Amino acid sequence: MKNKKIYLLLLIILIIIIPIICFINIKSFKVQNFKEYIEIPYNTNYKENSGNVCFGNRFKCSSVKVSSTGTIDTKKIGEYTLTYTYTYKKKSLTKKQTIKVIDNLAPTITVEDIDLVGCPNKTNLTIPVKAYDEYDGDLTDKVTQTIENNQIIFAVKDTSGNEATLIKDLTYLDNESPSITLNGNRTMYVPLNGNYTELGAKATDNCDEDIKITTTGEVNTKLPGEYKITYQATDSSNNTASVVRKIYVYAKNSYNTPSGKSIYLTFDDGPGPYTGKLLDILKKYEVPATFFVTNQALTKGYDNMILRAYNEGHTIGLHTNTHNYSIYQNADTYFADLYAIQDKVKRITGYTSTIIRFPGGSSNTISENYDGGNKIMSELALAVEAKGFRYFDWNVSSGDAGGTTNTAQVVKNITSSLGNGSTYVVLQHDIKGFSVNAVEEVIVYGLSKGYTFRALTMDSPTVHHRINN
Ligand code: ZN
Repeated sequence: MKNKKIYLLLLIILIIIIPIICFINIKSFKVQNFKEYIEIPYNTNYKENSGNVCFGNRFKCSSVKVSSTGTIDTKKIGEYTLTYTYTYKKKSLTKKQTIKVIDNLAPTITVEDIDLVGCPNKTNLTIPVKAYDEYDGDLTDKVTQTIENNQIIFAVKDTSGNEATLIKDLTYLDNESPSITLNGNRTMYVPLNGNYTELGAKATDNCDEDIKITTTGEVNTKLPGEYKITYQATDSSNNTASVVRKIYVYAKNSYNTPSGKSIYLTFDDGPGPYTGKLLDILKKYEVPATFFVTNQALTKGYDNMILRAYNEGHTIGLHTNTHNYSIYQNADTYFADLYAIQDKVKRITGYTSTIIRFPGGSSNTISENYDGGNKIMSELALAVEAKGFRYFDWNVSSGDAGGTTNTAQVVKNITSSLGNGSTYVVLQHDIKGFSVNAVEEVIVYGLSKGYTFRALTMDSPTVHHRINN
């Protein structure tokens, strides 16, 4: 009986305790913190994440070897698989991990930082907007814009469906004036009793398509004068613009019927590359002028212009042979230079010129640098007259030897100096193209205002500066 109980007890121990002991002692891979699915934004580093894995039982768990296969391109969105193999002695376990590289960044929309102003009569407007997505790149083409009341809404989506919107305030306003373009020249020259044809003008506007132009002013081609036609354009928001065209109605140069107001155009320092063009203009208007010529290096090759000017009735005056101010050392050096240019002119034209202009004018003080304090200009002013020359300065400066470097300013400098006086001697330089380009307008201005253009002669009124040295 007692033995039976012992057997029974042993049996119970075998049936219950041993399996428990065995169960407790089962060795296997223990996996913790392993993620089968991971999402990461593109362009971020992915560190392999194999979890915590060991092999053993609850009392003792040994570390295992891990190896992995598979690659991830974090620059490219998509799903990637990594396979981890854990080994312990000859046992192994394989687990797969899915990594999804995603784009979760919305694009950015940028609008130039300007006030968004739309035309009052338009609902659509072009705005310089840009869109950029870190993953897709430039998305400017995909931007939509919606105008609601006084706001404009820009929207764009990237290929991953991330959306961006930008709202800007919008103003309907037009404060930009139309712009007017004249057909034909802004300054026109019409001979007396000739035809003036109104060529009109065109106007464009930022908001309006049809802009009407009103024209005011008249041209009387039967009366010499300076006329103005004003073209005015107004847009639907009442912004106006106007442009003026100047028309000179000019009489022929009344050389034989003196008006009492004379202009003597004089050109120093040439001849040069623009002298031919100048002679063409003078010929067109039958205007005689005076050329104070030189023999400095830049005149080389233009001797024929001296002959042409002489043959076409212009006065050939003497300026200087060298145009080097060292000629002012003394009277001898001055006259040596003067006779050299006189000889040259005579050689070319057969004419002995005695009409002169001092380099720098009679009022120059640059001669002080050379004359050793001997007041050379005071001496020369008397000496040249004693030798039968006449010298001429000027009372109208074109400014072309100084700060003036454009044609319009040369015209302005000259025409604004003309008044009701009887003698205007204008200084220009025919070696300056921009100055030569001003001559035509100066001539028609003068003719339209009743001046007579003349060339200097030995009998012309004297224009002398105050002598300063
Ligand atoms: Zn000069």
